[in-house]
Amino acid sequence: MKCYCCSGESFENCCQPYLLGHILPPTAEALMRSRYTAYATAKVPYLLETTHRSTRSYYNTADILQWAQASTWQKLEIISKQAGTPTDTQGKVEFKAYYLDDQKTPQIHHERSSFKKENGRWFFVDGKVS
Ligand SMILES: [Zn+2]
Repeated sequence: MKCYCCSGESFENCCQPYLLGHILPPTAEALMRSRYTAYATAKVPYLLETTHRSTRSYYNTADILQWAQASTWQKLEIISKQAGTPTDTQGKVEFKAYYLDDQKTPQIHHERSSFKKENGRWFFVDGKVS
């Protein structure tokens, strides 16, 4: 099965090991992709764990679960990225997530997300939605 994040890789060789906690995503983009896959598979604990502690309190399990499950996740497109490589400690990723909402209306979530690495782990900090 191809990975949900549209990398072209198989799920087993792409986001699954991150979701299972077997390995850590090496780049901000890899974390971002795995978070999209977590939405697509409603893995809420992973979404909270990978949100930086400075912004985690803005999110809650019920809201994330509601959005994740009410939506049909169709496609992820990475638009641009800045830093976020294995040797960086911060990075930005701009992406579009295509989904059908609970009325089955096509939607595009366009966001520029900021990431920070602490103790070798990448975290999502916040995002600007446009
Ligand atoms: Zn993936």
